[in-house]
Amino acid sequence: MKQYDVIILGAGAAGLMAAMVTGQRGKRVLLIEHADEPGKKILISGGGRCNFTNIYTAPDRYLSVNPHFLKSALARYTPRDFIDLVEKHGIAWHEKTLGQLFCDGSAKQIVAMLWDECAAAGVDLWLGHPANVERDDGFSIECGSRRATATKLILATGGPSIPKMGATSFAYDLARSWGLKIVEPRPALVPLTLAGDDLLFRSLSGVAAPVVASAAKGPAFREAALFTHRGLSGPAILQVSSHWRHGEAVRIDFVPDAPPNWLAGAKRADPRKPVRRLIEQALPARLAETLSDRLALDGPIGGLSDRVLSAAEQRLRGWCFTPNGSEGYAKAEVTIGGISTAELSSQTMETRRIPGLFVIGEAVDVTGWLGGYNFQWAWASGVAAGQAI
Ligand SMILES: Cc1cc2nc3c(=O)[nH]c(=O)nc-3n(C[C@H](O)[C@H](O)[C@H](O)COP(=O)(O)OP(=O)(O)OC[C@H]3O[C@@H](n4cnc5c(N)ncnc54)[C@H](O)[C@@H]3O)c2cc1C
Repeated sequence: MKQYDVIILGAGAAGLMAAMVTGQRGKRVLLIEHADEPGKKILISGGGRCNFTNIYTAPDRYLSVNPHFLKSALARYTPRDFIDLVEKHGIAWHEKTLGQLFCDGSAKQIVAMLWDECAAAGVDLWLGHPANVERDDGFSIECGSRRATATKLILATGGPSIPKMGATSFAYDLARSWGLKIVEPRPALVPLTLAGDDLLFRSLSGVAAPVVASAAKGPAFREAALFTHRGLSGPAILQVSSHWRHGEAVRIDFVPDAPPNWLAGAKRADPRKPVRRLIEQALPARLAETLSDRLALDGPIGGLSDRVLSAAEQRLRGWCFTPNGSEGYAKAEVTIGGISTAELSSQTMETRRIPGLFVIGEAVDVTGWLGGYNFQWAWASGVAAGQAI
């Protein structure tokens, strides 16, 4: 039986960061990962290049029942802090778009960087077995044939999104069994599926367009939408999915760059111009054709009344889809909900009811927008806990 100051369950983004910080503070740290290597989600993130942070990180880019909870940790560990770490390891990076920072090379560099720091700080890593946890005065762990104890335990096992990468609902199950409150989890940053009348749009599978998309509640996102064989995806839709609830419509402005009264103005400029050609100039051809069919727009634009054109423009600026669901945890980048922030100290991530138990990363009811915000939360919450051990 080995004794540690802290045992960290889950060697993902948050667990690796917490292990690094705690180890550097001279504590004896055991990191346990049931997969065969650490940081598997980091490896597949950002298309293999890891969108490791976002320079516009701010509390309003996150969803949580208590939107104030995350402020302290995010303020104490900023994107600049993580960039400094990346640069210390000579990892080249670039901003892709909207403040999203990616490795020039590979996400492997981020995992190697975190693990090298952990190893240098003397962190022990046990791989390949799930842990059985018991709580008495402290915490004891059984993992395969090995056993360990510690007075502190950090839960960093993430959420259930992408089970084939090793994701589990372990954190929620353990928290529930110890009487901690869970905010009902649901898949987020996930493609939405279409049914009924909207099924016709599936024929557009593979077509992408720059749009402004929004759910009934929540912000509007100006990014690309993509039609798929099951429904809607692309960054704009993934963002909207975090705010979308069953039964609600998703609103898409297909012509966000067109000036007001665009169609009526075009009619005055050139009444002989075919209305379909005009729409094709603003949208990808297959999408323009489908939308024109739906709106029964045909012939020279001069043959259509201003009333018809205004109604068509309104539809193009606020097309409503009512998804019948999402592609679920199998395709969700993150999970909304999780262990309630009401259970945790925002300074340290320690649970109020079980002293010595900390929860960090995606297991907590804090979910970021697409674009590096989720890793920044994993780093920041990992640092907050690591500094408090
Ligand atoms: C395809 C994809 C791409 C993404 N791209 C980005 C991106 O580019 N930028 C961004 O900010 N976010 C991205 N995300 C989200 C990001 O990966 C997560 O928000 C982040 O990894 C959460 O960190 P975490 O440490 O809390 O959880 P995780 O990184 O999921 O780590 C949890 C770890 O715990 C382990 N584990 C689970 N159960 C147990 C158990 N019982 N015992 C031991 N270990 C266990 C898991 O195997 C895992 O290694 C992406 C997600 C996906 C799925």
